[in-house]
Amino acid sequence: MAQTKYIFVLGGVASSLGKGIISASLAKLLQSRGFSVTIQKLDPYINVDPGTLNPYEHGECYVTEDGAETDLDLGHYERFSNTPTSQANNVTTGRIYQSVIEKERKGDYLGQTVQVIPHITDEIKRRIMLLGDTGKYDFVITEIGGTVGDIESLPYVETVRQIRWEMGKDSCVIHLTLVPYLAAAGELKTKPTQHSVKTLLESGVQPDIIVCRTERPLTEGLKDKIARFCNVESSSVIESRDAKTIYQVPIMMREERLDAEVLRKTRMPIDSSPDLKKWEEFLYKLENPKSEVTIGLVGKYVELNDAYKSINESFVHAGAVNECKVNVKTIQSEYINIENISEKLAGLDGILVAPGFGERGIEGKIEAIRYVRENNIPFLGICLGMQCAVIEFGRNVLGYNSAHSTEMNPDTKYPVIDLMEEQKKIKGLGGTMRLGKYPCKIEKNSKTYEIYQTTNISERHRHRYEFNNEYLKKYEEAGMKGVGINPSENLVEIMELKNHPWFIGVQFHPEYQSTVAKPHSLFVDFVRATIENKQN
Ligand code: GLN
Repeated sequence: MAQTKYIFVLGGVASSLGKGIISASLAKLLQSRGFSVTIQKLDPYINVDPGTLNPYEHGECYVTEDGAETDLDLGHYERFSNTPTSQANNVTTGRIYQSVIEKERKGDYLGQTVQVIPHITDEIKRRIMLLGDTGKYDFVITEIGGTVGDIESLPYVETVRQIRWEMGKDSCVIHLTLVPYLAAAGELKTKPTQHSVKTLLESGVQPDIIVCRTERPLTEGLKDKIARFCNVESSSVIESRDAKTIYQVPIMMREERLDAEVLRKTRMPIDSSPDLKKWEEFLYKLENPKSEVTIGLVGKYVELNDAYKSINESFVHAGAVNECKVNVKTIQSEYINIENISEKLAGLDGILVAPGFGERGIEGKIEAIRYVRENNIPFLGICLGMQCAVIEFGRNVLGYNSAHSTEMNPDTKYPVIDLMEEQKKIKGLGGTMRLGKYPCKIEKNSKTYEIYQTTNISERHRHRYEFNNEYLKKYEEAGMKGVGINPSENLVEIMELKNHPWFIGVQFHPEYQSTVAKPHSLFVDFVRATIENKQN
């Protein structure tokens, strides 16, 4: 295989311009021309991974197959490219420093003063090259978190400068900026872009391609102006208009020829053309739904959209398969109680109870589950959502009044959800959960089997507590069955309620595996069930 090309995506002017989506779209386009691509995110914060961050701060924590707790942008990468990412695809400043300090303590730098340049930058470089060195990729796209000019980003920008210098045309820098529209002047303004490129130049990095996020079309004149002020060719100024859905962005980037420009800059062949037929079919279904449902998402981080990113995207994929517009209505579980429950859940065609940690909002989740169980409303419980379904059933069907998870009540008389054996000895909270992909065996005589159409699946996990098998027999006799079991450890992975149209709780996170090319079958069938429920 030829030399791997390294593409860097940096951002300026403001955060939230969509670097992750631009990176994922570029990956999709290159991939659809037959190239192999991987995407990596470098995050400038000092947490070793985002696993210990509050979802309000940084949105959802995404989990890879190999059990890395990562930035939610990796979810976009997987959803767009349909290829799994790994621990190596997300690196934080914390992890970089941790490795350097560990090496220093081991004596690997004996006699040297350990410094940001070259030791930290070398470690960043090593982490970037790690993916290319596997020999599996034509392109490694590295997205640098944060905004150019931030103190935290400096070592990363310096590393990009060094790699550019060393690799020349085997690397390429894309800078994403904002071109704001000033209503009073009736004009799009290029000055922030000029300044942002200047800031980048102060660190010695000249961008090759400038992607301009804008509400309105950029005229050729404006592109020429940006080109002239920022030392790039006009064809390298790419317009990135606000899109109705993120899934339009690859199509828009193809029109703007972002991928062709990257190929030209890195001297790669441009003879292929991107084949996005499947993607366009998905988009067509997404934009032309034949029905509509509203699903309630009951959780405690509902104030921030990004906190349940993968769940929301899974509904987008599943909606398209069903040619149905899925409206997701978030419901703050803290405010749910027995008096207002029917009002809170009124008009909803199905309920998903979200994953989560800790006491807050738990009783509202349990109350919501009682309501959907008694009223035959389709229900999907994910992780804590499944655990709540177990608690609810214990309390209201089996008569275990004080049933609980020992996470919320360590002294409960009925610990129906309890800490896993292997978790009992663990002290720290960072990266110590049961994480990543584990196999699960599904019982043939179950709804879940009909959905998956196979008995052997594997799904990603992120939890410490599990169903307490001492109670399994009682639950099964009363109609709640453990239909999915981890074969080696005998852990209950899937709970299913008999005599209910659609009531499934899963200990794992199906949402991490749903992609545009492969929407997750649990979500697809759940949406189908909500359509059916609405029709009746
Ligand atoms: N807090 C629960 C546990 O640790 C559920 C975790 C989750 O929902 N991801 O087991």
